[in-house]
Amino acid sequence: MLPLESALNQLKKAADLIKLDTNVLEILKKPNRILQFSIPVRMDNGTMKIFDGYRVQWNNARGPYKGGIRFHPKADLNEVEALSFWMTIKCAAVGIPYGGAKGGVTVDPKVLSQGELERLSRGYANAVREIIGPEKDIPAPDVYTTPQIMAWIMDEYSKFKGYNVPGVVTGKPIEVGGSQGRGVATAQGGFYILEKIVEKLNIDPKKTSVVIQGFGNAGYNMADFCFHAGYKIIGISDSKTAIIDKTGNGFDSHEIIKIKEKKGIVDVCECQEIQCSCQNHAHITNEELLKTECDILILAALENQITKDNVGEIKAKVILELANGPTSSEADEKLFEKGILVVPDVLANAGGVTVSYFEWVQNLANYYWTEVEVFQKLKKIMVENFDEAWKIKEENKTDLRTAVFALALERLALAIKARGVV
Ligand code: NAD
Repeated sequence: MLPLESALNQLKKAADLIKLDTNVLEILKKPNRILQFSIPVRMDNGTMKIFDGYRVQWNNARGPYKGGIRFHPKADLNEVEALSFWMTIKCAAVGIPYGGAKGGVTVDPKVLSQGELERLSRGYANAVREIIGPEKDIPAPDVYTTPQIMAWIMDEYSKFKGYNVPGVVTGKPIEVGGSQGRGVATAQGGFYILEKIVEKLNIDPKKTSVVIQGFGNAGYNMADFCFHAGYKIIGISDSKTAIIDKTGNGFDSHEIIKIKEKKGIVDVCECQEIQCSCQNHAHITNEELLKTECDILILAALENQITKDNVGEIKAKVILELANGPTSSEADEKLFEKGILVVPDVLANAGGVTVSYFEWVQNLANYYWTEVEVFQKLKKIMVENFDEAWKIKEENKTDLRTAVFALALERLALAIKARGVV
């Protein structure tokens, strides 16, 4: 199932639950604007390559468009549209004054040199410069885009405007207007939600096993938070491999992070310069990792990981979605029937965009907060909106995703109606 199809099924289900005004529903089914373009890049060997780029602005009823840029070989318009729609729901679900957007480039950034990556990023900024800006649309990092890439985009946009515009993107390095805490914000927000789940289900973290798919910004920071809180991390994967613990003690996040940073792969069994206990781990496939018996499965890679094909074999009790769209809408139904609690992306990973919002506020005010202030404000937003969504879930005996969507849709409908659009 294509990501956009899943996304629109989720929309319909929640719209039915709250009897959403049909005109509002029709508006939310379509993006406001799609910009599709090509980016010519001079490669280091003198040849020219043309990359496909996208920016989809879904809805801005609640504020400027907001959403990351993905550099991935499989990025395409359907994926960017779905991600852009989910951003609209997410910003409304946590009550921050933004609409939703997303961008992408079909590229494998791992094979580009730094110079090529910089030229591609600046090319992207030039292609979208008329439609982005602090009051219009504010991009941020997503899969395989980094604070450095955000700094290049900010620099290119600032040259175009003729003055410094830090608020045009978020997720920047601290030195050029980034926020304290933005680097770990997605995982930190997800961890606050995990703490609420643990409280609701009366689980003891120290007796709880965790499997994490994806070991990038979202996944490895989450591994670190879980490790420090005493959870037992029994499985981890990245795009190249998956490892499973054989000792019963779980992985030490520091060891895995060190290896990932050094080798670019979570391959503890092949480490040479770093001491590690290779005999205690086994390699499995990513597909097997998802089916591992565990208490909590954290999805922090890409869309469509749990689908109708493997949902029957999922043994986790709770699924926490740090990735966007990792569970198809068909699989969602089955998980609900099986009594597996899915904590949806549009809430679980909203810490990233929430601290992006804080970064933008700080840029506009040119006044910067401490990390403690950032996390206090983040926690309040995550916890309060979780509580509201949980209440909707309980009252309607529905799944948590539909409840979070319902919360978001009520807010979107109010904004669309207040503007007099319908
Ligand atoms: P990242 O580029 O930092 O890391 C991506 C990770 O996923 C890498 O470890 C990569 O090896 C792994 N991966 C890729 N394909 C995989 C596969 N098939 N199986 C297992 N692992 C695979 O990206 P990120 O920022 O951590 O993003 C991960 C997910 O979280 C995405 O869905 C993204 O949209 C979502 N997300 C990220 C943020 C953020 O602030 N970074 C915010 C909200 C949502």
